[in-house]
Amino acid sequence: MKGAFVPGCGPDTARAKFMAYLPFLKPVIKSFFKKPATQSYPFAPMPKDDLVRGHVEIDAESCIFCGICARKCPTAAIATDKNEKSWTISRFACIVCSACCEACPKKCLFMKKELTPASEVKTVDVAIKNA
Ligand code: SF4
Ligand code: SF4
Repeated sequence: MKGAFVPGCGPDTARAKFMAYLPFLKPVIKSFFKKPATQSYPFAPMPKDDLVRGHVEIDAESCIFCGICARKCPTAAIATDKNEKSWTISRFACIVCSACCEACPKKCLFMKKELTPASEVKTVDVAIKNA
């Protein structure tokens, strides 16, 4: 029906809505000409940060398989086997608290400032002593 009054849809309301959006238009238009604010991990390398602990690494040749690290681990992420001379860590269970590194009497555990690569399956890393 021509000339019918529809509440909230008059020309004044439309102008008011447009004016309300105006402050957002400037950053939107600016963003077309900027680099993306996010990175497409894991395709782009993560920036290095001094605050990042990284992940636990072991020098298996110095390990005596005493199991102290496994007992100190709050999430039971570590398993050791003296007979097999193996040290196992579940990267998905590790919360990177560093308690194992501090407790190791041989100081063969350390934090490496690299993040564990992304994975779709829960894997474990096993280190076996050669000699
Ligand atoms: S505490 Fe150190 S020496 Fe003992 S099992 Fe763990 S890594 Fe090996
Ligand atoms: S860093 Fe913490 S959670 Fe990870 S294995 Fe060591 S003790 Fe366990």
